Amino acid sequence: MARQTADAEADSATCCACGACCFNEDSRYVLVSGEDYDRLGARAEELTHFASGLCFMRMHEGHCVALELQTDGRVRCSIYEQRPRLCRELEPRSQVCEREIEDKGETSRRVRLQVLQRG
Ligand code: SF4
Ligand code: SF4
Repeated sequence: MARQTADAEADSATCCACGACCFNEDSRYVLVSGEDYDRLGARAEELTHFASGLCFMRMHEGHCVALELQTDGRVRCSIYEQRPRLCRELEPRSQVCEREIEDKGETSRRVRLQVLQRG
């Protein structure tokens, strides 16, 4: 159990210093299922949009609108406990994660650096 907690904390620290998988220019990037939508509760309408009969997380300036860019250069999912299934299934240090970092890690680094410099 302690091992699991330590792993979860390490994953959280890694993700807070990364955020690559939350970046994408595609407005249909993160699919939101009916169950996901319900979990978002009162914030569902504000955070999602519909296209071709499907629901997605809104994107803003190249990243998911729920991603908070913090002034210390780190990131945080502002709906972590309610995040969609797709986000839950992406395991840190998995092959998909590594591909995300390869594809968008640089974009995330650049944006985080800009926020850090602005203070
Ligand atoms: S790409 Fe991997 S390390 Fe980066 S935030 Fe996503 S899951 Fe975490
Ligand atoms: S819901 Fe959270 S984890 Fe999923 S893409 Fe948006 S900011 Fe990232």
